Amino acid sequence: MDPFIITYWIIIVAEMAIRAPLQKVWKTAPKAEQRVSQTERIMLGLLFVGMFFVPLVYAVTPWLDFANYRLPAWLGWLGLPLAALALFLFVRAHLDLKANWSPSLEIFEKHSLVTDGIYNLIRHPMYASQWVLSIAQILLLQNWIAGPISLLIFIPFYFLRVRAEEQMMLDRFGEAYRAYMRKTGAVFPKLSHKKEDRWP
Ligand code: SAH
Repeated sequence: MDPFIITYWIIIVAEMAIRAPLQKVWKTAPKAEQRVSQTERIMLGLLFVGMFFVPLVYAVTPWLDFANYRLPAWLGWLGLPLAALALFLFVRAHLDLKANWSPSLEIFEKHSLVTDGIYNLIRHPMYASQWVLSIAQILLLQNWIAGPISLLIFIPFYFLRVRAEEQMMLDRFGEAYRAYMRKTGAVFPKLSHKKEDRWP
C-alpha cells in the first residue's frame, strides 16, 4: 500500500487515541455555558466526512480513482514532516489544555484559562494542527476529492469558530483573555512582544 496513505491514517488513528480519554471527561463534566450553533454542528460533521469518511473510501475502494493526480515525489514526501508537525501540535495542545478541551464552544464549571505550554505562544494550537494536517492531506492523498476536501471545509470553519470562541473567552475571562490576546498570535507566534510585556 501507498506509504503516503499509511502516513495519513497513522496520524488520524493517533489523534483519535489521544483524544479518547479527554472525550470521556468532557461528556460528564458539568458545563457552565454552551454556544453551539446549528451551523457549527453541520460544519463539524462535514469536517469528519472530509477527514475520515472520504479518505476511507479513497483508501479501500477504487470509486475515487478517476480523480487521482500525481505530484512530484518530493511534494509527496513533504507531506510526512507536515503530518508529524500536525501531530506534534495536536499532542502538545491536548497535554496543555487538559480537561478544558471541548469539541465545541463550551465553558465548564471548573474552566480555567490556559496560557502556558504551547498556549504561551499561540491561542489556537489545535486549529494550527488542523491547518497543517489539511495541507498535508493534499500532498499525501493525491486525489482531487480526497486530497483538498478537509482544507475546503476547514477554511470557513476556522474563521467562524475562532471569532465565536474568542468572543466567548472574552465574555468569560475579560481582561485576562484580552491581555493574553495581546501577547500571542492565533496560529503563528507573535514575533515582537511589546517592551512592557517582556520587562514588566
Ligand atoms: N482553540 C483552541 C482550543 C480548541 S478546543 C486550540 O485551537 O487549541 C475548544 C474549547 O477550548 C472551547 O470550548 C474553549 O472553551 C476552550 N479554550 C480555548 N482556548 C482556551 C484557553 N486558552 N484556555 C482554556 N480553555 C480554552
